[in-house]
Amino acid sequence: MERCDDGGLLVGTNVPLPDDARVRFRAGTPPVGCTHLACTRCGATVRHFDGVQLQRELLSGDEYAQLWDAADASAFPLLRAAVIPRIRFYFCRCFNFYTAGVVAAPSREDADWACAGHPA
Ligand SMILES: [Zn+2]
Ligand SMILES: [Zn+2]
Repeated sequence: MERCDDGGLLVGTNVPLPDDARVRFRAGTPPVGCTHLACTRCGATVRHFDGVQLQRELLSGDEYAQLWDAADASAFPLLRAAVIPRIRFYFCRCFNFYTAGVVAAPSREDADWACAGHPA
């Protein structure tokens, strides 16, 4: 397993998320989003939906579990279309984070997400 440099990047929808699981970010090259982020606090793989935002902050672990289990954004009633362009909504079973830019996963506030490795 090879890990992304900088702990993996969280990226808006204008930055590619590779289809090939082997592709990882290397420092000094153009940014690509990490496709295998994991949360060290809840143990879940980080998922994402594009172009949506929460109608309110999630209040309970049950709501996070329901979100994480949702097949797509329309399956979770607290999501609506985002007003900010290029936004990508990332979530695990205990935390969520939005970005329309490029953010190293471990550098965000309250960071528990990092690249969990890519097949060589
Ligand atoms: Zn990665
Ligand atoms: Zn978590």
